[in-house]
Amino acid sequence: MSFKNLNLINPIVRAVTEAGYSKPTEIQYMAVSHILAGRDIVGYAQTGTGKTAAFAMPILQILKRNTSDHKEIRILILAPTRELVLELEASFKIYSKYLPLSQLSIFGGVLSGSQLAALRKRVDILIATPERLLDLVSQRHIDLSKIEILVLDEADKMLDMGFSEDVKKILKLVPLKRQTLFFSATMSFNIRKFADTMLKNPIEII
Ligand code: AMP
Repeated sequence: MSFKNLNLINPIVRAVTEAGYSKPTEIQYMAVSHILAGRDIVGYAQTGTGKTAAFAMPILQILKRNTSDHKEIRILILAPTRELVLELEASFKIYSKYLPLSQLSIFGGVLSGSQLAALRKRVDILIATPERLLDLVSQRHIDLSKIEILVLDEADKMLDMGFSEDVKKILKLVPLKRQTLFFSATMSFNIRKFADTMLKNPIEII
């Protein structure tokens, strides 16, 4: 099984090949086609399994498929920590090397002048911690009303860190009609309950 067999477009295949990936990992094999088909996903995967590319590759392809003169943010990726936000940013940068898409990451601390300037320009993909995101929405720097895909990464850690109320608030700010991808390293009753508050008829990937 190759990346091409997953129906991924050339700019993405080229970027991951240059990153040294020769074939999809198991989670990529299981998730990519469902995400491309617009399905919600609940995925239980540890870091190291290739889960970032499993959602990043199809997301980039969907963005490319529906490119128009959108000005609003189309993809929102929530992560619990600054470290994960930065890792996600680095990964998206690699995979989108040959695509004309823009991304921005935000986490605790003060927003720099360059980040504020970036927010005024076109941002396709926003990667953020929940608390900081809500802060910027309340200051009207960010509009989430045109989000097409919402991703929760390390959702179990998000719960552990007490972000469930923040996530609930964010769910009220994004459109009901959207695709949602939920990833957690561990599985439990509480995590599944959390997932059920935001997913529609999801494909479960274990
Ligand atoms: P992740 O699980 O997303 O944290 O990814 C773990 C590591 O696997 C990262 O360093 C990726 O660069 C790498 N990786 C992701 N997909 C593949 C692949 N298909 N082949 C080889 N390495 C990969």
